[in-house]
Amino acid sequence: MAVTATVPSLPARRAPEVRELLAAGELLHELSHGLGGPYHMLLPGPFDANAAAFRQAFAEAGVDGRVYYAKKANKAALYSERAAVLGLGVDVASLGELRESLAAGVPGPDLVVTGPAKADVLLRVAVLQGALVAVDALDELERVTGAAAELGRIARVLLRRLPPAQPHSRFGLDDEELAAALRRCADGPVELEGFSFHLSGYDLAARADLAGELVRLCRHARTLGLRADRISIGGGFPVDYAHGDDWRRFTEAQRPEHYHAGKTFSGGFYPYHSPVAGADALRAILAAVPAGESEPLAALLRGVGVTVLVEPGRALLDQAGCTVFRIQGVKERDGYAILTVDGSSLSLSEQWFESEFLPDPVLVPRAPSPHGSYEACVGAATCLESDMLTWRRVPFPHRPAVGDLLVYLNTAGYQMDSNESPFHELPLPPKVVVEPASPDSFARPRWRLDRHS
Ligand SMILES: *Cc1c(COP(=O)(O)O)cnc(C)c1O
Repeated sequence: MAVTATVPSLPARRAPEVRELLAAGELLHELSHGLGGPYHMLLPGPFDANAAAFRQAFAEAGVDGRVYYAKKANKAALYSERAAVLGLGVDVASLGELRESLAAGVPGPDLVVTGPAKADVLLRVAVLQGALVAVDALDELERVTGAAAELGRIARVLLRRLPPAQPHSRFGLDDEELAAALRRCADGPVELEGFSFHLSGYDLAARADLAGELVRLCRHARTLGLRADRISIGGGFPVDYAHGDDWRRFTEAQRPEHYHAGKTFSGGFYPYHSPVAGADALRAILAAVPAGESEPLAALLRGVGVTVLVEPGRALLDQAGCTVFRIQGVKERDGYAILTVDGSSLSLSEQWFESEFLPDPVLVPRAPSPHGSYEACVGAATCLESDMLTWRRVPFPHRPAVGDLLVYLNTAGYQMDSNESPFHELPLPPKVVVEPASPDSFARPRWRLDRHS
């Protein structure tokens, strides 16, 4: 292992709460020992703060807005429970997500059901619970109105717009389908509450432009006697994982030789730094003038009395969790080490999208060790050559040793559990809710297991 770094580092941005946790290394080691394997830590504080920031952005813009947590970003019960307590809605796309949200205490009318070609049983429960359904296709509109008729209820729907700028998207209704859907909505038993979209990518102007179009659609639908008083602009609010300077230095310096086995990634990398992220991205969208309009989106919305729904997943989970592995093997190679940890890349999903989760994991040594610079990549405790958590040679400030912990920061949004399986009969890492020490209660952080079944 080299003593001076020949590879660039990418430190992860960390909220004060996360910094405190890392400083309390003893707790992390205790949990690793007690749980006997890797685990995920969930932090309610940052989730609450992110939700408050989104609400603040709506308030500042004078726009009536509602925040729905996109549940697919993490399976834990904690975040749905926080959503229930805070009065947020939840965006669900399966019967399981719907059931978990209701069990966490989120009222049915605060759910929005998204996803393509939803199962009949999901539509039926959605109608019975008074949930809002984002309709993705004409036949689905038939099925949801059919369910409502049979149940003697009125289905609450949004019509999902196929993004004109993403014509190959498999989601949403095109112009012709929208026109047919509007005619169908006039016949009941269905209430057209408005329109929706969810864009892939992180382009803010594209979101403002399409929101402008949805406002025009609301105006048109009202001329047909339909309610149309809300639009959902989906999720995709970027997360700022690393400081701008660090990200710039890293991207300029990194080369294929810095990755174990010269690994390259056809999937490219997430933009780990975003100058405008989270609630600030919502601010920017509301302040933008949509194509074909002469006023900012916020003013357009106020003018016609349209409510905005947002469905952030990743952005609500910013800083709200991390993942802890224990090093169980260290092998020296050509100037760097291959670490083997007690879990697999199934608990760090980015590898499964031909990409890598780039922010440096943090080394929490078991015992004090001399400072230096030691490069290492990180492999899994499985028999697959390709199962690496980090192909990149990360420069660590201490020599990694068996028994040390590696903490991947900011993994709550999609990284932790979207791909987990008990491969090799390795148990799934448990989720531990950690609340920081507070001067008026306990001197140490407290923990409990998450309630996800
Ligand atoms: C996935 C998804 C979201 C959440 O996206 P993020 O990038 O996590 O904010 C919101 N709405 C819909 C319809 C989705 O499919």
